[in-house]
Amino acid sequence: MPERHPELDAIVVGAGQAGPSMAARCAREGLKTVLIERGPLGGTCVNNGCVPTKTWVASARAAQVARRAAEWGVVLEAPVRVDMAAVRARKDKIIAASHQSLASWLGSTPNLTVVQGEARFTAPRTLQVGDAEYSAPRIFLNVGGAPLRPAMPGLEQVQALDNRGILELDAVPEHLVVIGGSYIGLEFAQIFRRFGSQVTVCEMGPRIIGREDEEVSTAVAQVLEREGIVLRTSAKCLSVAREGAGGVRVRTSCESGEPDVVGSHLLLAVGRTPNTADLGLEAAGIATDARGFITVDEQLRSTSAAGVWALGDCNGRGAFTHTSYNDFEIVAANLFDDDPRRVGQRIPVYALFTDPPLARIGMSEGDVRAAGKPALVARLPMSRVGRAREAGETQGFMKVLVDAPSQRILGATMLGMNADEVIHGLLEVMAAGLPYTTIRRTMHIHPTVSELVPTLLEGLKPLS
Ligand SMILES: Cc1cc2nc3c(=O)[nH]c(=O)nc-3n(C[C@H](O)[C@H](O)[C@H](O)COP(=O)(O)OP(=O)(O)OC[C@H]3O[C@@H](n4cnc5c(N)ncnc54)[C@H](O)[C@@H]3O)c2cc1C
Repeated sequence: MPERHPELDAIVVGAGQAGPSMAARCAREGLKTVLIERGPLGGTCVNNGCVPTKTWVASARAAQVARRAAEWGVVLEAPVRVDMAAVRARKDKIIAASHQSLASWLGSTPNLTVVQGEARFTAPRTLQVGDAEYSAPRIFLNVGGAPLRPAMPGLEQVQALDNRGILELDAVPEHLVVIGGSYIGLEFAQIFRRFGSQVTVCEMGPRIIGREDEEVSTAVAQVLEREGIVLRTSAKCLSVAREGAGGVRVRTSCESGEPDVVGSHLLLAVGRTPNTADLGLEAAGIATDARGFITVDEQLRSTSAAGVWALGDCNGRGAFTHTSYNDFEIVAANLFDDDPRRVGQRIPVYALFTDPPLARIGMSEGDVRAAGKPALVARLPMSRVGRAREAGETQGFMKVLVDAPSQRILGATMLGMNADEVIHGLLEVMAAGLPYTTIRRTMHIHPTVSELVPTLLEGLKPLS
């Protein structure tokens, strides 16, 4: 007989990027709340996503700056060597601090109890965790996602790492083969190249980051290739096999004669899938789409089960930490603040944290063309930016698209030094619904990358 907890007001499943804030807000509103988590607090971002990867991006950049030191007139007497155990220990320390601060915040929140264990629905608004059963009129699902394991010939014979396994390495791989030329794969590719590995990226599509405009893919490919990363695109017939003691052979081409790639380590980075298959959703009448994402409306309520919300990667409405946290804000605004925020109101925004980073907001040029909007476009190479020349970081470009009749910004792409920060100036103007001329007329600080955004806008011409 399970131990029953029917007296609750709210249950949150998953302590990812929305769950802890959702649980704490419910508790603050006086709702007796339980937060159920099967793994470490913080979910993907803290444990094997944004936090560890950006910690390693920083270590990788330090190695690269040291290698390039002579360009800035700084002489290093010995070659650069990466101490992978120290790199990993630094990452683990930063993650441990996040765990500690989350645990102390949640542990000291009145009305809130954290339960460790795996939750599964047994009936509508009822979840079982081990021997205990929890019921509440409000259920918030923040169960996130996991790496996708493709049906690829030979995969069962080799040791394939995913984002979790690769972050546990404490030696630098001799040759890392990355399958998947998208955001996660490319970040790891550059990290390990800078740590000292030989790196080959195998991508099935004709170009890396195929969702971006072609000129963006090409520019990012050039950045990576300049550092010695080998990109094998159009790898349509991917298969893998064991090679020697612990190595891996990756066949990329259907044509005979094309050389296979032989590496020491294999990273699979071909996408992610929502953690919904083992949640017992059918027992609660919670519908998913064909890919397993919980179907939600504009307020992130389940389309099929009353009293159920889905937040973060499991609802298919975003795949970032900021979209998950924004989901919490939307749900809380509607539930507690009488503020009718909707998921469709947000502007798409994200970055690829290569060095230099790629930052994107709103529509791409391809989106604008497909929508047939009368638009203006401007481009500016980073080599025109004085601050970038002074820093010796002139790779990349900026591009902005403007709606011709309203003069509002439709979207922007920035690949270059500090792009992930600089793009927010354009984002705020878009969010405020202001015309691009607001930025052109604003005095900016010299010397910064941002001061060239008005210059970029001066170059607007009709998109032909
Ligand atoms: C390598 C990598 C790098 C990334 N870098 C970035 C980045 O730089 N910027 C960015 O914005 N995004 C990044 N992301 C994406 C980001 O990590 C995710 O979008 C974000 O973590 C999603 O958060 P979430 O709240 O949806 O769920 P998650 O953070 O995945 O949390 C879900 C939680 O639910 C728990 N859970 C699942 N099922 C159950 C169950 N049945 N019972 C109890 N608990 C359960 C899990 O254990 C987990 O803790 C990266 C992802 C990866 C993999």
